[in-house]
Amino acid sequence: KWDFILQTFKKEYDIQDISFKTWIKPLKIYSLEGNVITLISSEGEMGTVYIERKYLKFIEISICEVMNKEYSVRLISVEEKKEEDLKKKISSVSANNNNVATQNLNPNYTFDTFVVGTNNNLAHAASLAVAETPGQIYNPLFIYGGAGLGKTHLMQAIAHFIIASDPSKKVLYVTSETFTNELIESVKTNKNTEFRNKYRNIDVLLIDDIQFIIGKLSTQEEFFNTFNDLYLLGKQIVISSDRPPKEMETLPDRLRTRFESGLPVDIQIPTYETKMAIINKKSEALGIDFPYEVKDYVATNITSSIRELEGALTKLSAYSKLSHTPLTAEFAENTLKDLISPYSKKEITPELIIEVVAEHFHIKPEDIISHRRSADIAFPRQIAMYLCRQMTQTPLEAIGKAMGNRDHTTVIYGADKIAKETVTNESTKNVVDILIKKLNPS
Ligand code: ADP
Ligand code: MG
Repeated sequence: KWDFILQTFKKEYDIQDISFKTWIKPLKIYSLEGNVITLISSEGEMGTVYIERKYLKFIEISICEVMNKEYSVRLISVEEKKEEDLKKKISSVSANNNNVATQNLNPNYTFDTFVVGTNNNLAHAASLAVAETPGQIYNPLFIYGGAGLGKTHLMQAIAHFIIASDPSKKVLYVTSETFTNELIESVKTNKNTEFRNKYRNIDVLLIDDIQFIIGKLSTQEEFFNTFNDLYLLGKQIVISSDRPPKEMETLPDRLRTRFESGLPVDIQIPTYETKMAIINKKSEALGIDFPYEVKDYVATNITSSIRELEGALTKLSAYSKLSHTPLTAEFAENTLKDLISPYSKKEITPELIIEVVAEHFHIKPEDIISHRRSADIAFPRQIAMYLCRQMTQTPLEAIGKAMGNRDHTTVIYGADKIAKETVTNESTKNVVDILIKKLNPS
């Protein structure tokens, strides 16, 4: 029937063969819900938008004619289809289960999307084993490695896997920062019992970036208690850190011993082959065919983090589309200069601070520079101003300029406000400490 509709459409609107073959023939029906028909195009986002503008209305008319019934038609790209699939999967999982865990999980961080290489195969195998038999073999699982190498991805893959295989399992994924701030909040509001219940009434606890609790005495203590309770009940615990337990010198021995008692596994810097495999997978997802020379350039020059590798690919594809420049090695070299210049790593600039702060608060660098004043943006912006004053020698005027051409008095005001808060508000101090460590790990 679908073929028939398309043929009707072609005849009726007298479309050239080549246009029909390129744009229309590859369209497939994805779903029919009520009177809404969803089609998927095999094109990337630009092609999809083009088909939508030029043909969709007419396809809709043809369908209604052939079927003799009114339908509205929408078109999605392969990329959007993946998202819809995941959403459906997740909503069906959470429909028969009040699992709150999926809410703070990234749907893309699954085992399916994780590329296994010699640098991470141990961590991957251990994670999968833990996901298949939580609480039974490696407890705790301790994953460590440098920034951007896949720790969070693996932890969330474990969470997705467990929830998908047994929706009744209570899985809690948190960063150590969230743990700390919830603890602080519970003390302030006298809700310690609620806090305890939340962290005791679960089957699996995944706690990300544990290094940030080092030196916070009451948090360390509470985490130790949580850990022991869960451990005794045979509940699975997964911990990640940027370094192995034995290098967490200031951590009390009893906590370190606990961390070492299960299985510590590391993720190393990826080899060239692993990077190539990740680039291929990522370009498929982006719907872009990077020429070999570009992939080779990226894999050779981006060495220390997969997050940077992904950032490089996104940047290349966006810039080449915007400037209508073909993707060549030379183009890659020019576009990625800042990312791979050996000096950009060390120097802390307002730009770097904006980037790190934005990532931390899950907003975009453009938001910080923008003139929006809502609290979810204004607070990170003031934090960034404070950090620029604390961590760089940049003159006030230049900081203001980097923050979206703001006046220097605005910078002083924002930075002072945060400075005061670090004394009066423990959560703000916590955030600032973490950001300083992120910017300057040593
Ligand atoms: P970390 O928590 O170690 O700092 P993340 O887990 O946040 O690192 O990974 C950074 C980015 O790199 C994420 O987008 C993640 O999906 C991606 N990534 C890391 N390792 C892999 C891998 N082996 N295969 C595919 N993507 C990966
Ligand atoms: Mg992480």
